[in-house]
Amino acid sequence: MTHTVTLIPGDGTGPEICAATRRAIDATGVDIRWDVHDIGVPAIAKHGTPFPQSALDSVRRNKVALKGPLTTELGTGFRSVNVALRKEFDLYANLRPAKTYKGVRAPVGDVDLVVVRENIEDLYAGIEFDIGTPELAEVRAVIEKAARTKIREDAAIAIKYISEMGSRRIVRFAFDYARANGRRKVTAVHKANIMKFADGLFLRIAREVAQEYPGIEFEDRIVDNMCMQLVQKPDLYDVLVLPNLYGDIVSDLAAGLVGGLGVAPGANIGENVAVFEAIHGSAPKYAGQNKVNPMAVMLAGVLMLRHMGEQEAGDRLERAIADVVAEGKDVTYDLKPLRDDPTAVGTREFADAVIRRLGIPVRA
Ligand code: NAD
Repeated sequence: MTHTVTLIPGDGTGPEICAATRRAIDATGVDIRWDVHDIGVPAIAKHGTPFPQSALDSVRRNKVALKGPLTTELGTGFRSVNVALRKEFDLYANLRPAKTYKGVRAPVGDVDLVVVRENIEDLYAGIEFDIGTPELAEVRAVIEKAARTKIREDAAIAIKYISEMGSRRIVRFAFDYARANGRRKVTAVHKANIMKFADGLFLRIAREVAQEYPGIEFEDRIVDNMCMQLVQKPDLYDVLVLPNLYGDIVSDLAAGLVGGLGVAPGANIGENVAVFEAIHGSAPKYAGQNKVNPMAVMLAGVLMLRHMGEQEAGDRLERAIADVVAEGKDVTYDLKPLRDDPTAVGTREFADAVIRRLGIPVRA
């Protein structure tokens, strides 16, 4: 079966790591037609907009995209192309596995967590009121009356909202992911002891949804306690599901536990579209130098293959990456014990090593 995937190379080091990943994915033998489109900075130069219609149409049509990092400072009035992409396709689930690979220096032992973060609601919905604006005065007056409380005049206000629908679909996503991937437990993370209504609603819905999945264990944790426990005993946890803000913070904590953002993949998934990417940014200072590590985008490629139903190819690619990293020979500078190690290889050569492990001769 031929799959068509939209490839958004991104900018900075994005095109190099995406080219390396594309070769590695092709070497699994899965038949993919890559529909290449620019979004963000490179699109402005070519199309006069960071969001060309042809690129959006391609993502909508193909339903699956692999994306390189995009630099955010566009100076075009777009706050973030990444956020805009999430909103455009209602990519409500941010999936971030954090797994220890032998050969990657990490502060704790074996970790194998999956963080599922709600991607649309909560304090990140962008509902904010700046000091000195008439809107703030209006909002403050309404809140002071309704909540029978005083808000200082020199305070800015950000609104946190959490809906039943948003909570239900993200918790279902976490349980469905757990079931499809042989995971044993889902932990809902919240602060319902303090935010009784917003986080209370998230927790209530999580408990309701858990009833629909009797084969999977369910528990909940308060977010501050969760952070401490993840550092002390990460092996107790499996799949975590969180509202947007806690998910953002805890997923970086989880990435730190396994060696940092350079080795961590992510996916933004909606009802119709899924976009796979590395968690790190465009590392512009290394652009064009064949230097940075493509491992995180390659692992995003592993998630993508599994999402497309190519489980076995995804498993093989993950094993090949893990073997190369465990051997520690053909790896980029960041995976060597010393950053200036002269035996470090480049982005392309790392991909060559992965492809050799997949059993395919590397073409020059
Ligand atoms: P960054 O992740 O691009 O780079 C920080 C440092 O981490 C780099 O200088 C480099 O030393 C190291 N690094 C990052 N990726 C690496 C890799 N693959 N291999 C080896 N080393 C690596 O973070 P930044 O400098 O804060 O961000 C640069 C731009 O990327 C910003 O415009 C930011 O907004 C954007 N960004 C985009 C995304 C995305 O597209 N999803 C995510 C984060 C940041």
